[in-house]
Amino acid sequence: MAGVHPLVYVGAGAVVSVVSLGVGEEFKLFFYIGIGALVFGAISAFIGGMQYHNAKKTIEKGQQKTQQEVAKKYPDFARQQMGMQAKYCNRCGMQAPLQAQFCARCGSRV
Ligand SMILES: [Zn+2]
Repeated sequence: MAGVHPLVYVGAGAVVSVVSLGVGEEFKLFFYIGIGALVFGAISAFIGGMQYHNAKKTIEKGQQKTQQEVAKKYPDFARQQMGMQAKYCNRCGMQAPLQAQFCARCGSRV
């Protein structure tokens, strides 16, 4: 089933359902098969969307973490990158304005 987009099932299911409804009572089974395909496709699309969403979130989190780690290791570089606008807490990695004395998140001196 890999390679087939879930929305194909939704489309095919919808077509089969509508057509079998139009043809008549004896094709009622196809109507249910169509509905089944439609639901299956919708659920697959939903799950696929969730996985995509989660993967994206994980990557974004990783990037954030990497930025914080870079900022911890190379504060001067990070400051340059931020246009001299920010520094980072040594304890939690929270970004703080250059003039700040304490971290806004954990309260440790920055
Ligand atoms: Zn902090």
